[in-house]
Amino acid sequence: MPVLDSDQSQQARQEAARLMAEGVHGVALTWVDNAGITRAKAVPIGRVPHAATRGVGMSPVFDVFLVDDSITTSRHIGGPDGDLRLVPDLGRLTVLAAQPGWAWAPVDRYDQQGRPYAACQRLFARRMAERAVAHGIEVRMGFETEWVVLREGEDPCAGPAYGMARLAALSGYLDDVLQALVAQGVDVLQIHPEYAAGQFEVSVEPSDPVGAADLAVLVRETIRAVSLRHGLTPLFGPAVLAESVGNGGHLHLSLWRDGRNLCRAGEGPLGMTAESEAFLAGILDALPALLAIGAPSPASYLRLEPSRWAGVFQCWGLENREAALRFITGAPDDPEAANAEIKCFDAAANPYLVTGAVIAAGLGGLSAGATLPEPTRGDPALTNGQPRLPQSLPEALEHFSASGLLREALGEPLFGAIAAVRRAESELFDGRAPQAIADATRGRY
Ligand code: GLU
Ligand code: MG
Repeated sequence: MPVLDSDQSQQARQEAARLMAEGVHGVALTWVDNAGITRAKAVPIGRVPHAATRGVGMSPVFDVFLVDDSITTSRHIGGPDGDLRLVPDLGRLTVLAAQPGWAWAPVDRYDQQGRPYAACQRLFARRMAERAVAHGIEVRMGFETEWVVLREGEDPCAGPAYGMARLAALSGYLDDVLQALVAQGVDVLQIHPEYAAGQFEVSVEPSDPVGAADLAVLVRETIRAVSLRHGLTPLFGPAVLAESVGNGGHLHLSLWRDGRNLCRAGEGPLGMTAESEAFLAGILDALPALLAIGAPSPASYLRLEPSRWAGVFQCWGLENREAALRFITGAPDDPEAANAEIKCFDAAANPYLVTGAVIAAGLGGLSAGATLPEPTRGDPALTNGQPRLPQSLPEALEHFSASGLLREALGEPLFGAIAAVRRAESELFDGRAPQAIADATRGRY
């Protein structure tokens, strides 16, 4: 357990008193399980200093929960025994603008002896970020959040894709989403109508990998709370209508050293440095296995169809929205802007597993001195030779299970639990019609 020194304990008490004075009564402590569901325990604000020192109890069996709340088992994790301590990260304690009386903090999980829990997804993300730092690389990341809203089962804002008509129809709602995010200190880059019926998107400033995953949780829960206050049902699942464009959870990343963006001003392809090239080549190579992390639900494979900007081909390209890896150089006078976007991931993914696993794959490429193939121009669906990414969860799971790189990075308990959850969800939905899979998952995340 992170033993708090007397200064930190004092700070925790002060922080709790400050929030109490602001009218906060309860703090939701969240973590995201291997099925991609954000689970919560809450404590009264006065218990926060205690929670920060001793943690709050929760069973390890949640690591093998499925999207429908049924439970599978794995070699290291499963069964009714044992307990873990959820320890809030008070550095992220945020008053929730759309849930009066409530604040939020993400947790790290420790065992009862106070040792870091081997299968904690957030500690995994931190370990991988630290590994990158040990290579002299600071990774910056940001998730895009796409979601669909329904009112009594219907699209509440009929209007064209990306249409101003949609923004007008729900302008009060979108204003509240924006205001709540800004009040919580979130640096919003864009908020806009997306392609599918009732679909919107928010993107936020990049931050460190753990911070980016925390933000993904905070952004989603804020959208959820505002939606419910407006009588809207938010759907974050990968597939809403099985035959249409789904919800992506694209991840942007850039690599930095001493304040310099390694995705630009180098000798590599499209002006990136050799290190960036190797890192991105590692990610591109590992994408079939990474899909079991970033596209983790049977519903993910309903979304992963060509011509939906979901990036289903294992290739990369300059601003190519049909490539799984889209490279963005940015303007010559805007050195911060160069970055890469992984498009094939969706919002069922645990963002901590995503950030950690992507860094592990990137570092694999770096160690191997990997190089990128030629960038893909045009729609890869129309040119031969670009491999399709896995088209089903069992196919992705096969690649994941064979990945020594991800097994080593995640460690056996976490690796085994993820594989067990993927296998069990594949079996759960086996033989079900596409729309039945979408219906069973779209409102769960
Ligand atoms: N909704 C698309 C997806 O499933 C992404 C659209 C876009 O490029 O923003 O990933
Ligand atoms: Mg989008």
